Amino acid sequence: MTDLDALARRLRAELGPDQVITDRQELRTYECDGLAHYRVVPAIVALPHTAAQTAAVVKACVEARVPFVARGSGTGLSGGALPHADGVLIVTAQMRRILGVAPEDERAVVEPGVINLQVTRAATPHGYYYAPDPSSQQICSIGGNVAENSGGAHCLKYGFTTNHVTGLQFVAPDGNLVRIGGRAEDPPGYDLLGAFVGSEGTLGIATEVTVRLTRLPESVRTLLAAFPGVDQAGAATSAIIAAGVVPAAIEMMDALAIEAAEAAVACGYPAGAGAVLIVELDGPAAEVAAQFDQVTALCEQSGAFEIRIAADDAERALFWKGRKSAFAAVGRISPDYIVQDGVIPRTALPQVLRKIDDLAAENGVRVANVFHAGDGNLHPLVLFDDGVPGEAERAEATSGAIIDLCIEYGGSITGEHGVGADKAKYMPRMFGDDDLDTMQLLRCAFDPDGLANPGKIFPTPRLCGERPGRHRAADAFPDAEVF
Ligand SMILES: Cc1cc2nc3c(=O)[nH]c(=O)nc-3n(C[C@H](O)[C@H](O)[C@H](O)COP(=O)(O)OP(=O)(O)OC[C@H]3O[C@@H](n4cnc5c(N)ncnc54)[C@H](O)[C@@H]3O)c2cc1C
Repeated sequence: MTDLDALARRLRAELGPDQVITDRQELRTYECDGLAHYRVVPAIVALPHTAAQTAAVVKACVEARVPFVARGSGTGLSGGALPHADGVLIVTAQMRRILGVAPEDERAVVEPGVINLQVTRAATPHGYYYAPDPSSQQICSIGGNVAENSGGAHCLKYGFTTNHVTGLQFVAPDGNLVRIGGRAEDPPGYDLLGAFVGSEGTLGIATEVTVRLTRLPESVRTLLAAFPGVDQAGAATSAIIAAGVVPAAIEMMDALAIEAAEAAVACGYPAGAGAVLIVELDGPAAEVAAQFDQVTALCEQSGAFEIRIAADDAERALFWKGRKSAFAAVGRISPDYIVQDGVIPRTALPQVLRKIDDLAAENGVRVANVFHAGDGNLHPLVLFDDGVPGEAERAEATSGAIIDLCIEYGGSITGEHGVGADKAKYMPRMFGDDDLDTMQLLRCAFDPDGLANPGKIFPTPRLCGERPGRHRAADAFPDAEVF
């Protein structure tokens, strides 16, 4: 009997037989996240229902010296929840209770498996909502959002997940339940909350999250502006921000992304547009009205040939439908695609988009661009056909070269999708060995045995000391199939 068999029996005894999966066919359900070209079948899947059960699973892993990986809804796009072949995948999706909504404190307390949009649904009757809104918000979990420090269209004005989490309970990698932060603002001491948010499951497993709620704005106004091309749309974005207006969102789609969205959801964007901007303003009605006129004028001055103003919630939803469905929509115009995620300074948008076009032409692939223009967070979608020999490699080369462009222009290798398994290889392009070793010191302070989500974030094996028997990150994916 292997150690893993013994571990599975222990987990069944502690959690219940229905909460532990070892059947190979059933395990395959969990072999990848949203980045489906990396696949590893886990040895065991555990489905805890409570924080105490999650702690029991981690404790059992620690005692058996078996690595574990947290998974929420599995929508991640960097392979963060890619399982370990000899490890336990701990799925928090069953922990879906909203434990409390406290409008008087502007807080909600939720379990990690709660779906992002459910927080807003619970808060809306009280006049509040949860501001971070990834396009996957109908399915992604708050635990995953915390681990990835997820962003969304409205993070331009309201900030990323890290600005909306004030407290956490989590299972530390030694199996103990700990609390950091709470309902109050800004606790003294080291900012452990800031370290945990964005740590991609490498510092522990969140089991309860206290989030900040935001008051619903008095007024929301949305426009869709069509431009001949991305240069004009980029110029409009810069002009709006330079004028001192901070919209709730400025989103851009280029011609190919529009074509895909039309094919998928018939969003009816203006014909002939080389690029569209969705600009949304929110706040006090008088302020929104004044700034909306200003934004409309700036779009016209930058070359918009058609501007539509959402007359009601239905039309506003239609504007957003095209944008929010864009990733999946690309499947209508290409059998395969890579979703890239990088950041550049907003002012570099026109140059970088032109260079992406050049790269696509050089490599003989198409690239659709759909992104959070306001904060310079690009999402180039590199289209390819895996059935055509060499095309996947050319797409991968284009995607990597786009990341180099982002760094060259003073940006970063990821805006919001995280490093995970996929981008670990790009970390040395941004960080020197000293930087990476310093990050590793932090990781070791939480997880000296390297059992929590090994093989993610860091490009090369890094150990917390050389004690024998410690898990080596180099062994993290011995059986990974890369498709
Ligand atoms: C169509 C589509 C659109 C998207 N749009 C956006 C977007 O606009 N903005 C954006 O930021 N992202 C976006 N994403 C990416 C993804 O939805 C986010 O990264 C999301 O936060 C992942 O949540 P999840 O529950 O699916 O996490 P998973 O994919 O299950 O896990 C992601 C990471 O979190 C860790 N993790 C999960 N739960 C926990 C926990 N309880 N404690 C500790 N670690 C944990 C995992 O180990 C993994 O490293 C999009 C994805 C898709 C498919």
